[in-house]
Amino acid sequence: MSRTLEPATSASVVRRVVAGLPAYDPGADPDEVATLSGAARVIKLSNNESPFGVSPAAAEAVRLRLARGVSRYPDPTGKRLAEAIGKSLTVPAERIILGNGSENILELLCQAVLDPGDLVTTQAPGFSLHEIFPRMVGARVEKVPVTAEFGFDAAAWRHALAAGPKLVFLANPCNPTGAMLSVGELERIVADTSKSALLVLDEAYCEFARPDPDYPDGLAVLHGQDRPWMVLRTFSKAYGLAGVRVGFGVASDATLVQALDRVRAPYNVNQLAQDAAIAALGDRAHLADTVRRTGREIARVTDMLRRAGFRVAPSSANFVFIDTSCRSDRVAEELHRAGIIVKAWREPGYENFIRASLSLPEDNDIFVRCLMEICAKG
Ligand SMILES: *Cc1c(COP(=O)(O)O)cnc(C)c1O
Repeated sequence: MSRTLEPATSASVVRRVVAGLPAYDPGADPDEVATLSGAARVIKLSNNESPFGVSPAAAEAVRLRLARGVSRYPDPTGKRLAEAIGKSLTVPAERIILGNGSENILELLCQAVLDPGDLVTTQAPGFSLHEIFPRMVGARVEKVPVTAEFGFDAAAWRHALAAGPKLVFLANPCNPTGAMLSVGELERIVADTSKSALLVLDEAYCEFARPDPDYPDGLAVLHGQDRPWMVLRTFSKAYGLAGVRVGFGVASDATLVQALDRVRAPYNVNQLAQDAAIAALGDRAHLADTVRRTGREIARVTDMLRRAGFRVAPSSANFVFIDTSCRSDRVAEELHRAGIIVKAWREPGYENFIRASLSLPEDNDIFVRCLMEICAKG
């Protein structure tokens, strides 16, 4: 299946920057992998989803809403959800923006803040939408590499921030490495970022990292800073709601939320998603259980892989970034034949890496065994 834009009559109307954009890579299609492998059950480790499902309360909220009917448009401001989030974080609801996934908010930020030619600074390796959305509006993107040990390169960041970006996208923990910035490292980035730049902290995986005392609460670090900032979070990962699409941002001030509202589609978060998120937020036990079980698997699988001789980045998230020592697209292809989907990394310098999100223990064992066989290790 080709994702390139074919020469066609429509080619002449497509904006030049759009024609030149890299395509987002969602990973292999589970139906295609099922056919290719003949596996009765595909093990999908490609999108950092939760194997532990959603809170039963969230599932019940969706059922209830369906029973009451969905013929009306959703609440365009999502005020009940924004208030519930605000209450849980002790932030006024007027500083919260909701999105059709936090990806939606990344897009809104680019549309509201960036002019063509503006500079955006982010990480490498990194989350592709931190690059694709800025480029979509004609901005330039500079990526700051991690150290050889997947750590934060303070000197490289200071240098990059001195170039005066308009917007900084920083994921903590980082996707795809899973590595986290410490309190001190984050404070350093904040200090080195110009007060006229918008600093966006993408905390899609914060729930998994929080048990580590050295993991900074982005809201606490940015609170009271005299600068524009936003912290992004999502219900897609630890809350297990990737399929309904809902995320949120906490802004430095209500004015930034109002700017995003101007470029936002009015009904961007559907009613089922709003209801599910409110219920999920109220179920602390389900979240704690997901975080505890994920942490156990991360430690166990990282240890198994390292014993087998693989280099694995230290992960504070729900996935591992693995150096396979051979071309990752070939490794991924072999895994697909065995009915296991991972993401082959393609950024320069990381062509030997795969990213695998962890699943239930028995599936993780199958994955590790297959990977060892393919790479002839262990
Ligand atoms: C998964 C992810 C997101 C967003 O996911 P949504 O489903 O759109 O909320 C955002 N940032 C990073 C770094 C991610 O890995």
